[in-house]
Amino acid sequence: MAIEKFPVRFAWRRMATPHVMHLAFRRSDETPLDFVPGQFLNLHFDTATGSTHRSYSIANPPDADGLLEIAMSPVAGGLATDVLGTLEPGQELLASGPFGRFVLREEPPCRYLLVGTGTGITPYRSMLPLIRERLGEGCRFHVALGVWRREELLFGDDFLRVAEDSPGFEFTACYSREFPEQPEAWEHAGYVQTLFSSLELDPAADTVYLCGNPGMIDESVEILKAMDFTLKQLRREKYVSARPAA
Ligand SMILES: Cc1cc2nc3c(=O)[nH]c(=O)nc-3n(C[C@H](O)[C@H](O)[C@H](O)COP(=O)(O)OP(=O)(O)OC[C@H]3O[C@@H](n4cnc5c(N)ncnc54)[C@H](O)[C@@H]3O)c2cc1C
Repeated sequence: MAIEKFPVRFAWRRMATPHVMHLAFRRSDETPLDFVPGQFLNLHFDTATGSTHRSYSIANPPDADGLLEIAMSPVAGGLATDVLGTLEPGQELLASGPFGRFVLREEPPCRYLLVGTGTGITPYRSMLPLIRERLGEGCRFHVALGVWRREELLFGDDFLRVAEDSPGFEFTACYSREFPEQPEAWEHAGYVQTLFSSLELDPAADTVYLCGNPGMIDESVEILKAMDFTLKQLRREKYVSARPAA
């Protein structure tokens, strides 16, 4: 069955961090897209050799305004990078979706560990209103974001705000390249998966979501399996590239 495509109009772009572009679109038919936080969209565009598409997690919660935000990590010479980096407000692209099953499921004794590297944090930003609801039901959350250094903390303020006003919600930033001289209590040195050993994870009560860099996901799965987590408890969304790395 052919996948239904719909036109989206480019609304705005800003640099969210020195290396990540935050972009927003609206459906040109003004119909809000019915998506579940955690899902992704495909953006379609033409290239010299034909039409292609790239996938991007939706970075905002569903809202009446119909805005569809994404965060893109530009890749030098990347096809989508070139297209999305040069769009002018009002220009149209075709999109399809929403796709994916990387959504917050109701897990009975619930503590969620939500792990992301770089733009892999975006699905959790989309989930924030849902996370607040589940916190109200007694669930607990720990969001862990892995980036190179503090200035790359994508959407960090959004998570820190929830951590400030919601008992039961924790946020940790993990820096793999540069650790601040005066770190905050929520900052950790090392790859995000090096945090796991200090979290008192419990396979009987915890569910882990892993999103972003495929290498981080593979290593995390091995560490968590060694802690007796089953694959069913480890939800994964790999940001695989459309082509093999050069
Ligand atoms: C389900 C899903 C969700 C995704 N969500 C996001 C998202 O929210 N944000 C986001 O930024 N990306 C996301 N991606 C990745 C995204 O779809 C593109 O692959 C990425 O933006 C690069 O596309 P491009 O056309 O610019 O580069 P391409 O033309 O595809 O790649 C050009 C060259 O760069 C290499 N390359 C591609 N990506 C990288 C990289 N990250 N680092 C180093 N080299 C690379 C390729 O192997 C290729 O050789 C997602 C992927 C999947 C499968």
